[in-house]
Amino acid sequence: MNSENSASSTVSRRRFVAGMGALGVAGAVGGASLVGCSPKADDGKKGKKGGKGGEAFDIVIVGSGGAGLSAAISAYDKGVKSILVLEKMPMTGGNTNYSSSGMNASETMFQKEQGIEDSNSLFAEETLTGGHDTGDSELVKFMCDNSGPAIAWLNDLGIKLDSITLTGGMSVKRCHRPTDGSAVGKTLVPGLLKAVEERKIEVRINCDAKELIKDGDAVTGVKVEEKGKAYDIAAKAVILASGGLGANIDMVTKYRPDLKGYVTTNQSGATGDGYAMAEAAGAELVQMDQIQIHPTVQQEHSQLIAEGIRGAGAILVNSEGKRFFNEMSTRDKVSAAELEQPGGFAWEVFDQQVYDKNKAVGNYDKAGLVVKGASVAELAEAIKVDAATLKATIDTYNAVTTDGKADEFGRDKGLIAFAEGSMYAIKVAPGIHHEMGGIRINVKNEALTASGTPIKGLYAAGEVTGGIHGNNRIGGNAICDIEVFGKNVGEVVATALTK
Ligand code: ADP
Repeated sequence: MNSENSASSTVSRRRFVAGMGALGVAGAVGGASLVGCSPKADDGKKGKKGGKGGEAFDIVIVGSGGAGLSAAISAYDKGVKSILVLEKMPMTGGNTNYSSSGMNASETMFQKEQGIEDSNSLFAEETLTGGHDTGDSELVKFMCDNSGPAIAWLNDLGIKLDSITLTGGMSVKRCHRPTDGSAVGKTLVPGLLKAVEERKIEVRINCDAKELIKDGDAVTGVKVEEKGKAYDIAAKAVILASGGLGANIDMVTKYRPDLKGYVTTNQSGATGDGYAMAEAAGAELVQMDQIQIHPTVQQEHSQLIAEGIRGAGAILVNSEGKRFFNEMSTRDKVSAAELEQPGGFAWEVFDQQVYDKNKAVGNYDKAGLVVKGASVAELAEAIKVDAATLKATIDTYNAVTTDGKADEFGRDKGLIAFAEGSMYAIKVAPGIHHEMGGIRINVKNEALTASGTPIKGLYAAGEVTGGIHGNNRIGGNAICDIEVFGKNVGEVVATALTK
């Protein structure tokens, strides 16, 4: 998931990430709004007394990110009213809050309206190719086939994603963003929370799920800790939607020792608890070493620089002012190329039209992350690269943008000429971004053992699941994953419980 953090330059990386200083997001989705999420005592939705005197719900969902909130809404709309969403942090939304690119989806109502030709099978093919054919083709097909309906479902909830752009590895414009082209997370999370509030589904913040309760082979509840108090909650079904592990460096390095010392784009609740709980309950974890690093992270603030900026024409240059790779290639390849450059970093360079087209840039600018110049020469001086070299780089790039062919690095997407005038640059390098591995599931979101048997009562959705993206996730596919599978798991569980 992508972060849209801002911070004062004096705040350390760790403290900033822990402080979750999301631009505007905290205010929109912070604890205060959650008071309204708790059901009134008399609305019939509060947990009933459980077997051992504790509470009991039909469905307990661990995690209030996009996957968890979507699951709650769809389960409710399918007829289950006794639902509890647990959130360990003081605010809801998880990494989904910071998601900056958008939601990839095919054959959507908005693509049709805008005359964009696409197909579910092409989306699936490009997703599998982007993951170097290591993703689970059945899960990928399911995700792509259900992506258009998920866009329509969100639209019905008042979440309109009709500004469509490209992300690396996709040949068709299918990354759906809010109408004004702003970061998707800031529209998605408040929109889902509103729907949750309207349904009076309880979201319990500061409530940390510690362990799954089992009766024989079946999962029957969750042990939680809330403000130092431990208690049990019984459930007919538990849905793990607890996100990834990027903020737990011990767990990251357990699976990927080579990532020691990397910054993370993840919010501090992304501690991998769901993997540990599921594994202890007998679920298989797949592809856990597939932790995606993102190529454009501003290091001092662990601030992810949205991929749409490259899609709108930005280039990456090294400390010599030279381009070195196809900026629109997949994240793994761009990251690797960056690390080979002197100092292991790049400058993401763009002009005024890119600045104006991407609302996020204004936020990065306010946070002090953007270096400016009134011309190429002034920018070159500010970022200490040779002015003639940077000018030649931009002139060469501009020449290629006009002939409609791929450039010398194979870039054939988002080739948009730089205009004269103000120039901007952000210093970037790779950072820990997304756990692509996780709990093995099937298309019913059932958590599976190593032999492929579903664990009764246990489901999972979102980043906590594994195998969909293989060894490289395409930008915009995380939101597609959490929305398609979040919506799906709610429906599947509700159908099972109301049969
Ligand atoms: P996804 O994109 O899959 O929805 P997110 O990162 O957006 O994932 O959301 C996952 C949420 O789960 C985060 O808000 C995180 O703080 C929360 N979470 C993680 N572990 C626990 C836990 N043990 N108990 C309760 N909430 C948790």
